Amino acid sequence: MPVVTLPDGTQRTLSEGSTAADVARAIGPGLAKAALGARLDGRTVDLSAPIVQDCKLEIITDRDPAALNILRHSTAHVMAEALCKLFPETKLVYGPPVENGFYYDIDLPRKLTPDDFPAIEAEMARIVAEDRLFTRYEMPRDKAMQKLKAEGNPYKVDNAERAKGNVLSFYVNGAEPGRYWEDLCMGTHVPSTGRIGAYKLTHIAGAYWHGDATQQQLQRLYGTAFTNKKDLAAYLEQIEEAKKRDHRKIGQELNLFVIDPMVGSGMILWKPKGAAIRLLLENHLRGELIKNGYQPVFTPHIGGLELYRTSGHFPYYRDSQFPPLYETDRSRILNELWVAASARPDNAAISPTEQHWLDELKRVDRPAWEALLSDAGPAAQRFSSAAGGTAHNSRLIREMLSGQDGFLLKPMNCPHHARIYASEPRSYRDLPVRLAEFGTVYRYEQSGELSGMTRVRGFTQDDAHLYVTPEQLQPELQGCLTLVRFVLDCIGLTEYRARIGLHKEGDPKFIHNPEGWAQSERAICEAAEIAGLTATREEGEAAFYGPKIDFVVKDCIGREWQLGTVQADYNQAIRFGLEYIGPDNRPHRPITIHRAPFGSMERFVGILIEHFMGAFPFWLAPVQAVVVSVSEKSEAYALEAAGMLKNAGYRVEADVSAEKIGPKKHRVRQQKIPYALVVGEQEAAARSVNVNDREGQKSETIPLAALMELFERSNKPPRPPATVGER
Ligand SMILES: [Zn+2]
Ligand SMILES: [Zn+2]
Repeated sequence: MPVVTLPDGTQRTLSEGSTAADVARAIGPGLAKAALGARLDGRTVDLSAPIVQDCKLEIITDRDPAALNILRHSTAHVMAEALCKLFPETKLVYGPPVENGFYYDIDLPRKLTPDDFPAIEAEMARIVAEDRLFTRYEMPRDKAMQKLKAEGNPYKVDNAERAKGNVLSFYVNGAEPGRYWEDLCMGTHVPSTGRIGAYKLTHIAGAYWHGDATQQQLQRLYGTAFTNKKDLAAYLEQIEEAKKRDHRKIGQELNLFVIDPMVGSGMILWKPKGAAIRLLLENHLRGELIKNGYQPVFTPHIGGLELYRTSGHFPYYRDSQFPPLYETDRSRILNELWVAASARPDNAAISPTEQHWLDELKRVDRPAWEALLSDAGPAAQRFSSAAGGTAHNSRLIREMLSGQDGFLLKPMNCPHHARIYASEPRSYRDLPVRLAEFGTVYRYEQSGELSGMTRVRGFTQDDAHLYVTPEQLQPELQGCLTLVRFVLDCIGLTEYRARIGLHKEGDPKFIHNPEGWAQSERAICEAAEIAGLTATREEGEAAFYGPKIDFVVKDCIGREWQLGTVQADYNQAIRFGLEYIGPDNRPHRPITIHRAPFGSMERFVGILIEHFMGAFPFWLAPVQAVVVSVSEKSEAYALEAAGMLKNAGYRVEADVSAEKIGPKKHRVRQQKIPYALVVGEQEAAARSVNVNDREGQKSETIPLAALMELFERSNKPPRPPATVGER
């Protein structure tokens, strides 16, 4: 009889045929009522799943982060049934849960519009009210394929062909298979339709089958679901609020940035006002960096391919990079040959791809081809077609490429910084070396994934690399965390949490370095604790070369954004042969820390635009005030006052147009400029200004000197609360 171990360590012996639901009931009626699913040895399953062997069991209730996925996926089934009932010609394709909701891709000749939503939702309400059990049944693969083919939905046949295993499962929206609507599905589902608390259809988008633009075009119907109406209402309000705050819309209204198809999608053109914000942020951060012992450096936007062969960025991340820039056909072909030759398993002879590139080389650059294959020279200089030649060929081609290589638009700043570190001898006394750069990098994101400033193809990281000794790892990580906290607090993003990514024992994805992992994971967890961060630890989420901390920031409408990251790296020093001479007079490998508090300037400013809804605080506002003249008679004074403020370093404009004062003030407010400074004849005579804030709350007349004091007080980031562990 199976024994289950519960999260608190207690064990229960089950009778034959027991399910997770039985365990929940045995623990207590409250838990049974709240249960939505279960986790068997870490795998999410239905409550009705039979428990056949000893396992760890966890009951999933609505407080569990996995609950919403189960609920939303179940709601997608209810929506699918409703669609099939209302539009019988509907062919269902695929319906997963996604962040914030779910969708179902459908093939339906009739174009759905939001006007159809009430009818679909009403049909869903009927199914939910009937509180039908979700029932799973399984079939041997061949029988299931026969059944699906007979049903005639090619998409489901395709899904089944892609599914793994010898058994396929189906879910019925009811207790009796055959009587109720059903769908091919792996699960997991809530126990019954009545458990779906609150749901709403949100929007429709186009989609292609398999995400491939050459395939059938589909309609993607999105919805969301929550366990209760209150959460749904809060979420819908958040969406409405987010629409008002969309940085693409505000960025255009306030002239902050533009994306120009002639320049390229995913490329941000910072207009003067957006650039002003970015510069202020950069300067603010740069000041802190210098105080904390960082040294600014500059590096070019491209780097030789040998740099990226050394770092490992080429060719492994080719799909997400712009294609290399080659000076000659020879370097293009030799690089392709190198990629193919290095990929050859050591026990294999030459591959057709290698042969193809050798033939190309022969056609384009006969002398190079001869040099590579000629019998005249020593065998050590010759390309090997036999098994066992992989390392030799790879080295040989790299040598041939030296001096006539290609370039890559840089996908990362790290390799350039590693070469700066390597450019001079380093002693333990020189460490830590902290190299900082606002470095622009380029990634080839799929065009469908580009969005405003938050998903782009070129972006500037507020990057830095620290080279440290093992003893310095913990204090330096802590310094990085304190710096990130300082920066976020200053900007008013005070709600954040951290995710610590740890490696997973035995997973080949992570480099083999047991001592390093133990040391760095201890260091990173300690640093987070001392820095006073609320942090969760996530096993298996480390970078392959070391543990990391990601910052997740909550904006003022409660949305979470992943921003900066701090990572420890044992691999870079090995790849680049970085060293320092220790107190023992022998060479040692430094550990690299990668860190970027904002992540990228583009994304960060995009998030700030939404957070502030364009109304940047005084110290960050691209235009801080406009001096507005009431009439011609105060024009000279308006210009004089604006000039004085500009001379004092403030970003101030004057509006002395002939327009009425009302519309002039309105325009200042609309542009989210902190102050409209109105001057008429009286103000001119008294050398004062009438100060109007953008909220429309304050209007007072004060002397120019008092205004200067007000500006001086407001022109810096608010001093954040003192953080624990500050150095
Ligand atoms: Zn399902
Ligand atoms: Zn890096």
